[in-house]
Order: sequence, then structure tokens, then C-alpha cells
Amino acid sequence: MSEDFTGNFTQQLPISEEAIQAAVSVMRGGRLHRYNLTEGEIGEVSLLEQEFAAYVGSNFCLAVASGGYALACALRAMDVKPGDRVLTNAFTLAPVPGAIASIGAVPVFVGVTEGLVIDLADLEVKADQADVLMLSHMRGHICDMEALMAICDAHGVTVIEDCAHTMGGGWKGVPSGRHGAMACYSTQTYKHINSGEGGFLISDDETLMARAVMLSGSYMLYERHGAAPSPEIFEGVKYHTPNVSGRMDHLRAAILRPQLRELDAQVVAWNERHDILLSGLQGTPGLTVVERPEDEAYVGSSIQMVLLDWPEEQINEVLTRCGKRGVELKWFGGAEPVAFTSRYDSWRYAPSEAMPKTDRILKGIVDMRIPLTFSEADCALIARIIRDEVSAVFQAG
Ligand SMILES: *Cc1c(COP(=O)(O)O)cnc(C)c1O
Repeated sequence: MSEDFTGNFTQQLPISEEAIQAAVSVMRGGRLHRYNLTEGEIGEVSLLEQEFAAYVGSNFCLAVASGGYALACALRAMDVKPGDRVLTNAFTLAPVPGAIASIGAVPVFVGVTEGLVIDLADLEVKADQADVLMLSHMRGHICDMEALMAICDAHGVTVIEDCAHTMGGGWKGVPSGRHGAMACYSTQTYKHINSGEGGFLISDDETLMARAVMLSGSYMLYERHGAAPSPEIFEGVKYHTPNVSGRMDHLRAAILRPQLRELDAQVVAWNERHDILLSGLQGTPGLTVVERPEDEAYVGSSIQMVLLDWPEEQINEVLTRCGKRGVELKWFGGAEPVAFTSRYDSWRYAPSEAMPKTDRILKGIVDMRIPLTFSEADCALIARIIRDEVSAVFQAG
């Protein structure tokens, strides 16, 4: 008798009663816009910015409309111009090259290692081609950040970190997002805290952050921010920075604040689930899992398996067989972009050179999100199903 899984791979936890109450009280007041404040009121958005800055330990924080907005805003704050080249990961999701393309800049893709992090040897080779690296900690895998920063510093490359999958994680005790000049986070439903849509930008750099605040649509109301540089910094940028509206509102901020307080506990819950899956999959013939480095504080909100050098038909066979038993796996290596997954060569607006070493790895990456609505028993069952089906196809092949 084969066991099947019946859970839902896209079902997130409900919003807590505390967060719902906070949202209701914002709605009762009718003041949803971040600058709509009463005398002396700080407001949910500024409070959230202060709390997130304190959480990661940055001087400044700006809450915005989405993670993708934060990425483009960081590039604009750095004055990246149309036609400029920006280094980024070949293994990432579409909003990353999309943010680069949105301002007319041109992505230069850097390869991926078998550990699913940016290939530092390839970065070293390409570092002189651009002044900015948009580093995606894709699927929560964090590279050796000291080595990466040494390469970037040596080549005068400024780093923007895309922490959409590492909010709550870190490297050698430093929170993810605290190595680069700026870092971006997403609070979209499928990330680590959920406001439907939303994002953050953090930095310690006064000028970059003042520019980001102006860009986000502050008009001349920047003094109403709770975690922004002091007003005199804005004197130097306010006439030169365009308004590209992308603010967060109090309603979203109100539901995020209680979630931020719960984040560390959620990280523990994710990692318990991730580690059950990881140990259940270890040693499956033909399949490699990514062992997490000692220095990495990861957030196991998803898990990746690599079917290295498997023929396409057999990978499809595994996906089909697991799907029949209720386990939805996503394949990053498919020639056609499907749902959230796509490959760097499917972004045809961004021409790329062939990267055979990277292609070999991308072709084998199979991915699964881990919603917190899954129990630990669910995760053990899912691991058994994947192990069975991968073994069956591997032995037949
Ligand atoms: C989700 C995501 C983003 C963008 O976040 P949105 O809030 O959806 O715009 C950026 N990078 C990565 C890797 C993501 O997964």
C-alpha cells in the first residue's frame, strides 16, 4: 500500500488574531496612508520600520510596496543608469533580473555552485564588468559572505542583497542583509512574513537611504519617517531625486508588526520541518541534497534536491510520480518557464552567454516550498514519498 500526501503546498498560516485586531483598528481610524498621522502619532509604518531596523541591526529602514520595488529602488538610489551592467545570480527568480531591466540596466549573470550559491570564481572573473552586484540569496542559500565581500571590495563593486528568502537568517552571526551597502526583503505571502504584498530596504548609508525615501514617494514629508536619516541629509538630495511611488500603508504594517515578533519562532518551526525532509532524503540514490554550512543560519522555508546529470524524461517522471502521490515538486531546469520558476536563458530581454557548468546544475534542481501548515509528520511522509519515487525511477533508468 503506497501512502499519499493530501496537504496543500500553497496554504500559509492564518493571520493571527492580534494582527487582525491591529488591522481593524487602522481601518476604524480611516487613516491608511503612511503620512496620514494625527499630532504626535508615529504610525504603524514607521513603527514597523524602527522594529525591522532593530531586528537586523541597521541604522535605517524603509518599508515599501514590494520586494521587487525595493530592488529597483536600491538600484536607483545607487544611481545605476540605463545601459549600465549589473552583476546578478543566474540561479534566481524573475523579479531580480526584472528589477535590473526595469531601470534600463543590463544583467550580467554569475554562475551557481553545487551548493546552490553564487560561484565566487565566476564572480571574480566578471567583477570588472559592473559597479554593482545584486546578490540573490536564492532559496535561502547563503554563500561565504566574507569571501564575497573581499572580491567585491577589491573590484570596487557595491553589493545590494536580495534577502527575499533569508529574512531571519545570517552568516557567522551577522544577519542576512548586513554585508552589502543595501538589502531588500519581501513581505509577500510566500515569504517569511505575510502582508500579501510588501517589502523593506535597509542600509547604514545616509545618502543612499535618503534617496531611497525620496524615491519611494515621500514628497517633502520625510520627517514623518521613523527610521530614516536626519532632515539635513535630505537637503542634499531632495531637489535631485525623482518620486517613484511605492510606499507601504498602515494596514499592511499593522499586520506585519506582530508577525515580526514571531519570526524567530517561525524560523525554528521551518528548520525543524526542513531538517526532517533533509535527513529523510539523505542517501537517496541519484539525488543530492544541499548540506547546510556550519556558518550559515538558514531559514528552511524550502528545500532543494539536485538530480545531477539525469535525463529530462526521468526528471519529469519523478515529478509526475510524486505529483500523483500529492507531492508537488518544481523543476528549475525545465526549458519552458512554469509558474514561479524560470531559467536565466528564459529571460530573453537579458541576453546571456552560455554557462555550461551552471546549466548542468540548474538542469537538475528540484524544489519544494515548506509551508508552516505542514506538520513534522507530513514532512517525514513527503520525504518517504520522494525517496521511493526517485529510487524507483533511478533504478529503472
Ligand atoms: C519574491 C522574490 C522577490 C520579489 O519580491 P516581491 O515582493 O514578490 O516583489 C525578489 N527576489 C526573490 C528571490 C524572490 O523570491
